Amino acid sequence: MQITIIASGSGGNATLFASRGTRVLVDAGVGPRVLAQCLAAAATAGALGSTSDSTSDSTSDRTSGSTSAWTPDAIVITHAHADHVGVAARYNKKHKIPIYASEATARAALLGDPERVRLFSPREPFAIGALTFSPRPLPHDAAQVALVVDDGARRAALVTDLGEVPPGLLEHVAGCDVLMLESNYDEDMLDAGPYPQHLKRRILSARGHLSNAQACALLAALPGGTHTVALMHLSENNNRPDLALAAARDALLGKRARLLAAPPRGPLVLDTAPPPGAARAPLAARQLGLFPGM
Ligand SMILES: [Zn+2]
Ligand SMILES: [Zn+2]
Repeated sequence: MQITIIASGSGGNATLFASRGTRVLVDAGVGPRVLAQCLAAAATAGALGSTSDSTSDSTSDRTSGSTSAWTPDAIVITHAHADHVGVAARYNKKHKIPIYASEATARAALLGDPERVRLFSPREPFAIGALTFSPRPLPHDAAQVALVVDDGARRAALVTDLGEVPPGLLEHVAGCDVLMLESNYDEDMLDAGPYPQHLKRRILSARGHLSNAQACALLAALPGGTHTVALMHLSENNNRPDLALAAARDALLGKRARLLAAPPRGPLVLDTAPPPGAARAPLAARQLGLFPGM
C-alpha cells in the first residue's frame, strides 16, 4: 500500500491510499487539479511506481498530469469541516465517483448527488476494492472518525481533528505500520498567538485539536510495530515543524520509528513496507482482534 499526503492542515486535507489497483482519497480538501499536480509530481519523482501496476492507466498517461488520469475510485470523508469536505461534491458531480461518509457527516455537509453517497457506520469496517477501512469516533466539534486502512498486508492509521485521545484509540492504531497523527499546536505558541480567545478555547477544548504534548503522550505509549510516524494538521500560526518533530522524537525514543512532519501542501509519499532492518510488529499487537468482521 502506498500513501500520498496531498495536503494537511487548516488550508485543506487530502490523503491518497493506493493498493493493487484501488485508489481511495481520504478527505477532499483540495480540488482535482491540485490532486493531479501532486500525484504527477510524486510519479515523476518515481515515488508512485507501484500504484500503476494493476490499473488501466499507464504511468506515462499519469505523468502528463491530466486530472482524469488521477481521479480516485472513491472518496472517504472523515468529517464535515470545510478543510476536509470542501470539494467532495465537485468530485461526485463532475467525476461521478462515490463519496463515503457517516450519516452525521452526510447530514451536515454537501456531498453532491445522493445516489453516489455511501453511508458507513463510525464503528463498523467497510471495504472499497482492495482496501478495508476501520473507523472509530473521535472527540471533535463535528462527528469525526479515525481510520485504519488495511490492504491485507499492511495497515496505516489516519488520526486528525481530535481534542483529546479517547479511550481505546491506542488499541485501535496499535501495530499499524504507519501512523499519521495530528500534532496541531504548541501550547505556548497558541497562548501567545494572534487568535481571539474564543478560538483559542475551541482549539484547546476536548472537542478541538490535539497539541504536540497530547500527540507525544500517545506516541510514547505506542507499542512496537509502527515503523513510520507522520505528524499531521500542523497549525501554521500556532506550531512549527521543528518544535513538533523535536517533541515527537523524544516521545518515540527507543522505538526506531521514522518520523516526518506533513507539509501543508504535498506530495509526501509514505511507503507502508518497513525499511530494511525495521522491527516487525509484536504478534500480540497484530492479534488484538481490532477488526471484527474481517
Ligand atoms: Zn481539519
Ligand atoms: Zn475538523
